[in-house]
Formats: sequence, structure tokens, C-alpha cells
Amino acid sequence: MAEKHYDVVIVGGGISGSALFYTLAKYSNIKSIALLEKYDDLATLSSNGRGNSQTIHIGDIETNYTLAKATQVKRTANMVKRYCLQYGYENKLMFAHQKMAVGIGDAEVEYMKKRYEEFKELFPYLEVYDKEKLKEIEPNIVFDENGKERAEDIVGVGVLDQYSTVDYGAMTKTLAQNAQKEKKKQLDIFFNSQVVNIKQLGSEHVLMTKNGDVFTADFVVVDAGGHSLYLAHSMGHGKNFGCLPIAGSYYTTKGHFLKGKVYMVQNPKLPFAALHGDPDVLLDMATRFGPTALALPLLERFHGLSTVPDFFRTLNLDGKIIRILFNLFKDRDIRNYILRNFVYEIPFLNKRAFLKDIKRLVPSLKLEDITYAKGFGGVRPQVLNKTELKLMLGEASINPGTGIIFNMTPSPGATSCLGNAERDAKLVCEHLKADFNHKSFLADLVN
Ligand SMILES: Cc1cc2nc3c(=O)[nH]c(=O)nc-3n(C[C@H](O)[C@H](O)[C@H](O)COP(=O)(O)OP(=O)(O)OC[C@H]3O[C@@H](n4cnc5c(N)ncnc54)[C@H](O)[C@@H]3O)c2cc1C
Repeated sequence: MAEKHYDVVIVGGGISGSALFYTLAKYSNIKSIALLEKYDDLATLSSNGRGNSQTIHIGDIETNYTLAKATQVKRTANMVKRYCLQYGYENKLMFAHQKMAVGIGDAEVEYMKKRYEEFKELFPYLEVYDKEKLKEIEPNIVFDENGKERAEDIVGVGVLDQYSTVDYGAMTKTLAQNAQKEKKKQLDIFFNSQVVNIKQLGSEHVLMTKNGDVFTADFVVVDAGGHSLYLAHSMGHGKNFGCLPIAGSYYTTKGHFLKGKVYMVQNPKLPFAALHGDPDVLLDMATRFGPTALALPLLERFHGLSTVPDFFRTLNLDGKIIRILFNLFKDRDIRNYILRNFVYEIPFLNKRAFLKDIKRLVPSLKLEDITYAKGFGGVRPQVLNKTELKLMLGEASINPGTGIIFNMTPSPGATSCLGNAERDAKLVCEHLKADFNHKSFLADLVN
């Protein structure tokens, strides 16, 4: 079969790949771009509406973010809002409602009040809700099933009406569709095109797919979730990283137990948001609780054991990885967290264990109110850094400077999709000596 040549090939049709496809199509003068996706649709994995918590992580209620991290995500989170507003997607795929982080008990209440003081300049709209106010705006976190109010103190810090929820699966598809509206360019999407091999040949890269197609490109960006690291390793790049896939599952309810997003206080040692409750846009805003966090030897959920071999290739197991994992397990908080999350997946015990933990947030919840959400959840490709001997708390990008970039995007990767696309579009255009109309990108999405 004849090979197809493109200026840029993007591997992976999740929200990261689609955001870059859109950004390059709309804001650069690059003439031909291909998006290669393994499955028969876009956003079938973590970027799917069922795969994540649908949160625009702006940093105001994410208690595991430092002020510096919040400042960084605020900019990219606003890009998602601006994109959706630009195309009129409010109340179609982006929704506004109340949201808050709550501190329960004296120590957490104190912590939340301090955090409010630290963050109020960056997020001037934040308000503090005491127990009396919470009875009115989010009563189910105050009262138990007998209508008795909880004994310990509780405080919420949040906002009553803000765009906070996005169906990222639907957004992914709009990014691809809006990109393809640029009629003077060749903008092609290939489904069922799993890239199995990438080789550098002079200034070009040659990509082979599982079904035997061959593509060549002047620049390649790999946005393939955990698989990005596997492809990087196979080319000799990113050997100082390993990937630890952390699966997240959810429990759904039939009712509206919460009026908005409610996050609990997170242990800053953990790279994930604490358990929370969210109105699910795909379930008519019924409350969905989660996600859990379980290390699994898989790069994808709901595809059997097909990605177990890729897991071992990306884990990159050696003495250093064993040391990182050992050090994680040595920490009592992390060990307990890992074990508790393991119990969340054991049939019969799972629901009871989860209920016990989530009742701390919604004391009136009963066993019959929650159902393990089959088909919901995804895998976060957490990165292990062998040089620094630690689990990285966010995303990682490998750029060897040879015309190829590999991105691993655990949470908040959906929120930062356009920010990451901005960064990569600049790098791609610099390398290809093409123009990136940054001014126009900023005017549409930032300023
Ligand atoms: C439980 C959970 C909750 C989360 N909650 C949030 C949240 O509330 N807010 C938020 O902002 N983020 C959240 N995230 C993170 C967010 O979902 C991800 O960061 C984001 O979806 C990553 O998008 P991606 O396109 O990089 O990867 P993916 O969505 O994984 O897409 C990768 C794509 O690459 C394709 N692919 C893989 N290998 C190949 C190959 N060899 N060839 C071709 N194609 C390939 C896959 O089929 C897939 O379509 C959450 C994640 C999880 C797991």
C-alpha cells in the first residue's frame, strides 16, 4: 500500500490529540494534518464522558493543588470555557451549577478557612459557607437519614453558579469537527488505525499501523494516553520514565443527592482528587460518586487483558521503579489508600466499603442508593520519574527535539487540552518553520 505523507501526524483521538488537531488546523498555516485513532470513534477511553469526572479543574476546589498549580490550570481551564462559549455549547456540553470543597471536622474546617485566605485573590468569587448556609444550599451534606444534623463542624468553600462541568467526550468530537471546517487544508481522521511502530528516517518519521497502512510526517505528536510512553520507549526516548496506570471507578445513584460538585479535602501526597460527588451530564444530572484509585496492570479499561503486555513495556521495571513503588508503599497514608481502593473493587465488599467512606460526605446515603457504575471510569497514566525517584503529580511531555513529542496526560488532562495544544502547536510550528497565529489563539481563548 502506498504511504501517505502529512506535514503533521497526531497519534491518538482523545481530547489531547483532537485539541491539537483543532489548534493547528485553525491557528497555523500547516497544510496537511492526519489524526490516527486506534478505535472506531474519538474519545472512547479516558476522554469519554463516562471515563472521567467531567470537571473543569480550575484549581479553586481542588485541595491537592498548590497556589502555583492553581494559577497554571486556571489559564487552561478558562480556555475550555472560552472554546465552549465561542461555539455556543453552554447547556449543550458545558454546564453551570454550584461547586465547593468541604472541610469536615475541626482540623479540616481550619484548613479550608486558611486555604480560602490563600486562594481568594486568585479566585475572588470564592465564598465560605458555614453549616447554617450549607443546610440551605447543600442540605444532604449536613443532615443524616433521620434529618439529624451532623455533630462535627463543616465548612464549604465554593461558588454558587459557574461553568464547572463538561462532557469531554462530546467536546472532543466538536474539536475534530470544527477543525475540519477549515476547507483549504487536508485534515484527515483515520479510525481503526493503531500505530504499532514509529521510525525516524532523516528529517521524517514513518508510522506503521496494525492494519498495514504507512504514514510519513515531518512532525509527529503522540497523544495516546499510557501508550505514548510505550511508543517513546520503543524509539529509545523517555527511558527515565515509567508508567503506573491508576484506574478509577464510580458509583452512580438514581437521584440528585447533591445540587452541585462537592469535593472532600485531599491528602496532598496523592496525585488525585479526593472522593467527590458530581452531577453527571450523561445521567440527567443524577449524582455520581468517585473516582476510586486502583493500580492495575492495564493501559485501558473495558478492553479485557489486551493491554497487559503494553503495561509491562511502559512500566519499565528495574531497581529504580521498584524503589519508587517501595517508597510509596512505605508511607502509611499511601499504603492505606491503596489497600482501601483495592477493597472498592472486590465484589460484595466494594459497595459497603465505598458507602462507609462516602457517607462521611453524604451521611444519609444508604446501600440501595448507590450502584457500581459498570462501563464508567478510566485509567490515569501516572508517570514514575526514575531520575527523581518519585511519582509525578501531573502530566509529562517528552520532546527529544527531533520532530516528535510524546504526551502522557493524567488528570487534569482534559481541562488542560487546549493549553497543551498551545504549547505543542508552538513547538511544531517552530520546527517546521510554519506560522502559528498565537495572537488570534489568545484573542479567542485567553484574553
Ligand atoms: C477516573 C478519571 C477521572 C478524571 N477526571 C477528570 C476531570 O474531572 N477533569 C479533567 O480535566 N480530567 C480528568 N481526568 C483526566 C482526563 O480524562 C485525561 O487527562 C484526558 O482524557 C486525557 O486525554 P488524552 O487524549 O490524552 O488520552 P485518552 O483519552 O486516553 O486518549 C488517547 C487516545 O489514543 C488512542 N490510542 C492509544 N494508542 C494508540 C495507538 N498506538 N495508535 C493510535 N491511537 C492510539 C486511544 O484509543 C485514545 O483514543 C480523569 C481521568 C480519569 C481516569
